[in-house]
Amino acid sequence: MKKIGQKNITGYIYLKSGLRVGGSDDLLQIGATDLTVIKHPVTFEPYLPGSSFKGKLRSELEKKEGKFGGRDFNEPCTCAQDNCFVCRVFGPHKKPNHNLGPTRIIVRDAKLVRGGELETKSENIIDRKTGTALHPRKVERVSEGSEFEFAISLQIWDLDANCVHNGKQGGDALVEFVKDGLREVQNTGLGGGISKGYGEIEFRDLKLDGVEFSL
Ligand SMILES: [Zn+2]
Repeated sequence: MKKIGQKNITGYIYLKSGLRVGGSDDLLQIGATDLTVIKHPVTFEPYLPGSSFKGKLRSELEKKEGKFGGRDFNEPCTCAQDNCFVCRVFGPHKKPNHNLGPTRIIVRDAKLVRGGELETKSENIIDRKTGTALHPRKVERVSEGSEFEFAISLQIWDLDANCVHNGKQGGDALVEFVKDGLREVQNTGLGGGISKGYGEIEFRDLKLDGVEFSL
């Protein structure tokens, strides 16, 4: 088993509507799949943590492929099957022993490159059980028109030689799979409050190893 190459997908995440900012509480939520922006502890500049971008990509791809884990199908995929791209690319959830090789995807923190003004809005929190409004809280969001630069690397291993996705094989198949994920994220949006119109995004200037492509 050996690594035979790497593919790099780069681009910008453009905010078509405000994106909810999460604090440290959100980061402590185990299994949270909402992508939140957080503020750098020193500069206070908002950025998108790579771990949450990766989590969002994974959960959208799991929905698209119908790959879930856990007794109630509410956990990430654990199958570790050779034909499961979720497990191949992101690693099987909570399964230390498998034959799929190392996690292929690396997602960097996405830095703010444009805009970044923070707006504060007061919002009621609805109690899920009773449907009643709890104390209003201040919600911070990054302004529409802001842009973040992102980078995703895919480590290609010899184990990937025979895998096929969207008619492509090997490393190209893994790239096609991640493109599917980007398309899903673009269609659904990022962060909390999507149903209220927050977090509408567009990927711009996408490049695969420096060569432009579109979704
Ligand atoms: Zn799987």
